[in-house]
Amino acid sequence: MRTHPSGSILLRAGILLGMLPFLFPSPAAAQEADSAAVASLRDFARAPVPSCPVNLTGDTLDTADPGIRIILNPDGTWRPIRNPELIQKDSLFIRNWDTRAVDPYRLPESQLPQQWQLWVIDSLGQYHCPNQVAVYSPYGYRHGRRHQGVDLPLKTGDPVYAAFDGMVRISAYTGGYGNLIVLRHENGLETFYGHLSQSLVQPGDWVSAGQVIGLGGSTGRSTGPHLHFETRWQGYSFDPQRLIDFKTGTLRHRLFTLRRRYFDGNSKYVQSDDDEEVIAKGDEEDRKKAEEERKKAEAAAQKWHTIRSGDTLSGIAHKYHTSVNAICRLNSGLKPNTTLKIGRKIRVR
Ligand SMILES: [Zn+2]
Repeated sequence: MRTHPSGSILLRAGILLGMLPFLFPSPAAAQEADSAAVASLRDFARAPVPSCPVNLTGDTLDTADPGIRIILNPDGTWRPIRNPELIQKDSLFIRNWDTRAVDPYRLPESQLPQQWQLWVIDSLGQYHCPNQVAVYSPYGYRHGRRHQGVDLPLKTGDPVYAAFDGMVRISAYTGGYGNLIVLRHENGLETFYGHLSQSLVQPGDWVSAGQVIGLGGSTGRSTGPHLHFETRWQGYSFDPQRLIDFKTGTLRHRLFTLRRRYFDGNSKYVQSDDDEEVIAKGDEEDRKKAEEERKKAEAAAQKWHTIRSGDTLSGIAHKYHTSVNAICRLNSGLKPNTTLKIGRKIRVR
């Protein structure tokens, strides 16, 4: 068994979540008190988070917990961070790890959960806006082509910041992206930084939120200097504006519910997306879609037999490894002694 600082943090977060009555409804008597606590926790989880200041070039100090280190900033301030040497041994940074492939997961979308909760930041993991400016070109389809991220204008040479703590997976010139950096974070999220004039990091480097990882530019398929920024999970992109308000530079959620429907290229962030009612309606549609998929799969699993001369129900049952009674149950009006008409189609599975 591998014990690991971020693992234990995530486990603690998981236990905390597991106690949340909005996930596991509690008995009515306790509900009123619970709902107040949940409301305040939910408010906390959804409160906007400003960027942390950039001062991450200082020394680090060990603490009594090998999983946690203190980073000392030149200005005398400090903050705790996870021990990168331990983090690197986490399977998250070993499995599906590829320093070239944009999507190393290659998962069919049907294998993704309908929704997934991510702690975006916690007491040991901070956030910094990668490039604070109004979005110039949004996520989604444009001229029939899917745009997997947002475009954020800047001047060539401007600093580009790591949005969260994480490990550099890609730092390379990659087709349309030009000079591309991909960071993988401890919650499994990946962030992409494209069209850079220069990368300042190497694959395997551990970076902190707010660290300058590259300089803005216009390399690759680009018509002018801008940062192309993506957020991906399991290889699937979703609108980064669901997570970050680029204009103010703030993070929208500490705890973020990522929904499978967000991976649709037409699913752009709109302000009302954070409304409970809109979320509930979307979830209801997801449930309906899942039910339709289940019915379709069931229909695809059905087997039919066309009666030919000489067929008997027991013979058919034997052929399809089932029983006469089971076949009768699948076909209304069919009884073990019914005369079989040649050409009739009966369901056998
Ligand atoms: Zn772009």
